[in-house]
Amino acid sequence: MAHRVLIPTPLRPYTSQQDTVDAEGGTVGEVLSSLTTTYSDLKRHLYADDGKLRHFVNVYVNDDDIRYLERDATKLKPGDVISIVPSVAGGAPGPAAPAVDRSTDLSNAEIQRYSRHLILPEVGMEGQKRIKGGSVLCVGAGGLGSPAALYLAAAGIGRLGIIDFDNVDESNLQRQILHGTPDVGRSKLQSARDRLEAINPEVRVETYETRLTSSNALELFKDYDVILDGTDNFATRYLVNDACVLLKKPNAYGSIFRFEGQASDFATVGGPCYRCLYPEPPPPGLVPSCAEGGVLGVLPGVIGTIQATEALKLILGAGSTLVGRLLLYDAWSMKFRELKLRRDPNCPICGDHPSIKGLIDYEEFCGVTPVATRAAGPGVPETTVEELKARVDAKKPFFLLDVREPHEYQISRIAGSTLIPLGQLPNRLAEIPRDQELIVHCKSGQRSARAVTLLKENGIEAKNLKGGILAWIDRVDPSLAKY
Ligand code: ZN
Repeated sequence: MAHRVLIPTPLRPYTSQQDTVDAEGGTVGEVLSSLTTTYSDLKRHLYADDGKLRHFVNVYVNDDDIRYLERDATKLKPGDVISIVPSVAGGAPGPAAPAVDRSTDLSNAEIQRYSRHLILPEVGMEGQKRIKGGSVLCVGAGGLGSPAALYLAAAGIGRLGIIDFDNVDESNLQRQILHGTPDVGRSKLQSARDRLEAINPEVRVETYETRLTSSNALELFKDYDVILDGTDNFATRYLVNDACVLLKKPNAYGSIFRFEGQASDFATVGGPCYRCLYPEPPPPGLVPSCAEGGVLGVLPGVIGTIQATEALKLILGAGSTLVGRLLLYDAWSMKFRELKLRRDPNCPICGDHPSIKGLIDYEEFCGVTPVATRAAGPGVPETTVEELKARVDAKKPFFLLDVREPHEYQISRIAGSTLIPLGQLPNRLAEIPRDQELIVHCKSGQRSARAVTLLKENGIEAKNLKGGILAWIDRVDPSLAKY
């Protein structure tokens, strides 16, 4: 019996870009096995070396997690739909919000400003006072934090905290709508403060120009009612989750990748946390970041706005929140789906017998190596763009392999390079000549470092171009377009 399997965006490169694939089988295990037989590249993304489904991949039958059914042995009925839901760089009605008992009167100007809330019986004067007495901390003033902070400020949240340490870059403007063209080069926090205060001077904007770490997270979070996770990396995402669980602060979660987003509420009393869904992060490199994979500019607008909606409902203690539900949004097919989430009694942090009782080293947990050493991973031979230029000028024969994606190749390329995207490399090794010196490059040197390692495992010696095509553009050929 053939069953429909929904493929999420990060895995579509391994199913010839199809978002739905039919696969035969009577159980989940059989369907996944026939799927990975047809699409062999998918296998290493779904299964670890021991043959077990990876921890950062969840499989659902309709809206139920197979961990709570019979796992691989779960029998399928005609019409059952299987979803693969990996963690991406992105139910039950929620319990009442933390008691907000800060009755704050509204001025006449505020009554006028919030009149469309006040005439909603579900919000009303009482609700607006709760919003005014409430506080939300946005972790990040980027793609998700931008719309979330704008709407929360407009809605009249009493105190709005923002943590960020970046400056506004031109490539942020496509989606980070807190910032404008004149803000390029300014600190994101200054730009955010100006914009938010212009929207609503009643809101107290608190800015924290720092990187969120295990040593400051608890202190930063403790004075806020809701934490809004707008982070773009796994280490910070687990840190936000764990700090929220430890402090019993609800986490309005969102994440995005290319055209797809996820949202939920974690760490509420009795509700699941991010680790209940994904006990472990993917190994570094397996899931590309938005910087590598791209993101549709509007997507964080939708997901960040959902997070702001959730934050407001958590503060109001009303409405049906996303506690116990994972909302999936695919902007490209314009589809929303939702899956049931449960608190895992064996969860290492929010379970019945937690093994994690304080914040840990999240960089280590996620296997992230510091940026400085990432490009030059141990044992990855390197060459510089100046050396490459000298080789080109000397007309020495060599093979320049570009492991970026075809659309990146279209933006700019180094003359004479051959394109084989990293994901296709394992199956296209035969195309690489063995009688020439081999230099591999990508955008910034990270994917190509992985390619050099992969080539070495297959007995092919290669050198990584340090800094990638960006370094080439900066130091050799500024006429090429930078992206
Ligand atoms: Zn948990």
